Amino acid sequence: MRLGGEFTGTPEGRCPPEPSAGGPLCGYKLAHLLLSRDGTRAGFTGVSVGGALPYGVLADARCAYGRRHPRPAPRCDCGFHALHSRADALALTRAGAHRCTALLEVTALGGRIRYARGMRYARQRVRSVHVGPCDCGLPPGVFVDAGRGRAGCRALTGACARCATGRDTVGFGTFAQLAGGGLRVIAGHGRADGSGAPSGTAGACWHVRVR
Ligand SMILES: [Zn+2]
Ligand SMILES: [Zn+2]
Repeated sequence: MRLGGEFTGTPEGRCPPEPSAGGPLCGYKLAHLLLSRDGTRAGFTGVSVGGALPYGVLADARCAYGRRHPRPAPRCDCGFHALHSRADALALTRAGAHRCTALLEVTALGGRIRYARGMRYARQRVRSVHVGPCDCGLPPGVFVDAGRGRAGCRALTGACARCATGRDTVGFGTFAQLAGGGLRVIAGHGRADGSGAPSGTAGACWHVRVR
């Protein structure tokens, strides 16, 4: 899914959007959860532009096309992407292709371009991960291999205790600890109004540097 699929609205205002610096903004997005094959690092990968680029709890955006310009560039679609509304992000999790993705609550940092429904931005801190239900529909209790591994990483998905029986599992706490940065991992995607969805805390983290 490309950015345009998430941001069906037009950029705010009539002028072409320009990057702007401002205070941190909260956003919501979908992601796949990754665990390194050696089991020492945990991170994320996106479901749209830049889906091939894994990132950690605190990360700087890279241009998905390898262009050497500031991120996010007005005439590119690079940068991290997030939606303003939890309800909009939740609606995406109900689409077939994104059913087993996690919903991330993030803080957008640095330069950003705002759109009607979302934003592109330079730097991101993932504050909490909301894990969707097990395939059987029950609330998830652990992570299991999602079967969509990639070079050096396993993709994880939530499973209930019964469905996880006999499989290799990774605890939510273990994932949070490996990801670092005070990340919170919460069972269930949460409600659209955000109730019952606590925010995480900041701290040291696995840092993906960008050159
Ligand atoms: Zn770019
Ligand atoms: Zn189950």
